[in-house]
Amino acid sequence: MDEQKKVVRPGKVYLVGAGPGDPGLITVRGKELLERAEVVVYDYLASIKLLKHVPESAERIYVGKKGNVHHVHTQEEINQILVDNAKAGKTVVRLKGGDPFIFGRGGEEIQKIQADNIPFEVVPGVTSATAAATYAGIPITHRDFTASVAFITGHEDPTKKKSNVDWSKLATGAGTLVIYMGIKNLPIIVENLLKHGRDPETPVAVVRWASTPEQRSVVGTLTTITDVVSEAGIKAPALIIVGEVVSLRDTIDWFEKRPLFGKKIVVTRTRAQASELINSLEELGADCLECPTIDIKKIEEPVELDNSLDRLNEFHWILFTSLNGVKYFFERLYEKGLDARDLKGPEVAVVGKATADLLHSYGVNADLIPSVFTGEGLAQSLLDQGIEGRSILIPRAQQAREILPETLRGAGAQVTVAPVYVNTPPVDGKADIRAELAEGNINMLTFTSSSTVTNFLTMLDAENQEELLKLLNGVKIAAIGPITAKTVTDSGLQVDVMPEEHTIPAMIDAVLASFKE
Ligand code: SAH
Repeated sequence: MDEQKKVVRPGKVYLVGAGPGDPGLITVRGKELLERAEVVVYDYLASIKLLKHVPESAERIYVGKKGNVHHVHTQEEINQILVDNAKAGKTVVRLKGGDPFIFGRGGEEIQKIQADNIPFEVVPGVTSATAAATYAGIPITHRDFTASVAFITGHEDPTKKKSNVDWSKLATGAGTLVIYMGIKNLPIIVENLLKHGRDPETPVAVVRWASTPEQRSVVGTLTTITDVVSEAGIKAPALIIVGEVVSLRDTIDWFEKRPLFGKKIVVTRTRAQASELINSLEELGADCLECPTIDIKKIEEPVELDNSLDRLNEFHWILFTSLNGVKYFFERLYEKGLDARDLKGPEVAVVGKATADLLHSYGVNADLIPSVFTGEGLAQSLLDQGIEGRSILIPRAQQAREILPETLRGAGAQVTVAPVYVNTPPVDGKADIRAELAEGNINMLTFTSSSTVTNFLTMLDAENQEELLKLLNGVKIAAIGPITAKTVTDSGLQVDVMPEEHTIPAMIDAVLASFKE
C-alpha cells in the first residue's frame, strides 16, 4: 500500500464579479462558486444579498472600502488574506462589485496570487456602466446616436500634470462616455469635456446605486448637470453617462417607473408562499425585506427548571410570558414523570389569551390574565395582587427581557427565572428590520398567516405596546384574510389592506391598489 503523506494542497482563488447591485445579476458560474466557497472575501459594492448562496460553514470576510474615507483593509492586507487562505487549502471566492477587471483592482489581486503560484480563475460580472445605463433606460449604444463607448475613471484629479486620462482625445473621441468614480470631480470633468470641444448641450445622466431599490437618476446637459447633481444631493457610488443616447431615457425608462418602485415591504418568511409573494412584489418594483424566521431550540438540560420541579409546591406563582415557555415547561414536566396534577399548589398567570389557551390544552386554567397583554401588564396585575414575600417561577426564553423579574423583585418577591428555550438570532446577511422601522424606511408589512404575525412580533421584541406603535407608525399592514387580520388586531394594531379573496395574487392586487390611492 502506498504511504499517504499529509500535505496541504493549495486551494484556489476565484475572482468573481458580483454584478452591479441587483443580486440577480451575478453569473450562473459566480453563483455556483459562492455555493461551494469556504471563504468569501467581499466588499462594499458587492450585494450583501449574494451571501445567501454561501454555505453557513463558510467564513465571510468583509474588506469593504467606502470612498477614500473608510478603508477597512488596505489592498496589501486583502491580497494577504487571499494568499493565506488559499495556502491553507481553502476554496476562496473574492467577490467584487461589477466586473472585477473594470476599475476593480482585480488585476493587482491576481498578479499577487499568481506570483505566489496559487491557482486562480476569474469570472466576469455585469459592470455598473452597462447596468446603470440599462436600468436608467439608456441604451449605451444606438445606431442613430453612437458607434463607440469609452469607460473612464473620474477618480483622478483631471488637473494633475500627468493624468492617465487624456480628456482632449476622449471629449469627442467616443460617442458615449461612461465615467466611474467621478461624482466628486464632476465640475472638473465637465470643464474638461467642454474645454476640449464637447457640445455644451450634450445630454448627461447621473445614476446612483444602479439596479438596486435605492437607484436614483438625474438628467441634464453638460451645462446644467453639475447644478442638477448638487441640488439632488447625489453622492457616490454613481456613474456619469455622457452622450446623445441619454435622450432615449424619456421613452425607455422602465426600472424606476415600476408601480411599487421605492416602496419597502416586509414579508415574513414561513412556507413556500413567501417566495411567490416576494417575487411578484419585486417584479412590481418593491424592495422586499424578508423577515428572518426565528429558530426556537429547547434547552436540553434546563437546570433551574429541574431544581424548581423538585419543589413545585413551594412556589406561589408560575408565570408564562410566551407560548414556547408553556410548551417547553410541560415537555420537561412530562419527561420528569410529572403532569398537570403536580401543579395544584401554585397559581398560574399568563401574559395573554393565546398563552392561556395553550395552557388550557395542557389541562391547566390560568388564574390570572392581565388586561394589557405585555410583560408590563402582567407585572402590574401581579403587583395589584400583592406579591411581597411570594415565591415566583418564570419558565421562559434564555434571552428574554428582564423587566418582569426586576419589577417583581423590586416589589419584594423571590423570583426564579428558568430558561427553557433559546431564540436563535437571525443569521447575518438578513436585514435588520427593527432598525429599518426605527428609521422610518418601511412602507408596509405583509402577513399571510397568523403565525407570520406572531413570528414578526416576537422578532421585533418591542419593549411595550407604546414602542410597538411608535415603530409601526405610518407603516401599512396587509393581511391575507380575516384570521390573520384578527391576530393583527388582537395585538393592538390596525389592518389597512385585506383582499376579498384570500389568495396571494389577490393580496398583491390589493397591495398595489393601496399604493395607488
Ligand atoms: N468593478 C466595478 C467598478 C468599481 S469602481 C464595476 O465593474 O462596476 C467603483 C465605481 O463604480 C463607483 O464609484 C461608481 O462610479 C461605480 N459603481 C459601482 N456600482 C455602482 C452602482 N450600483 N451604481 C452606480 N455606480 C456604481
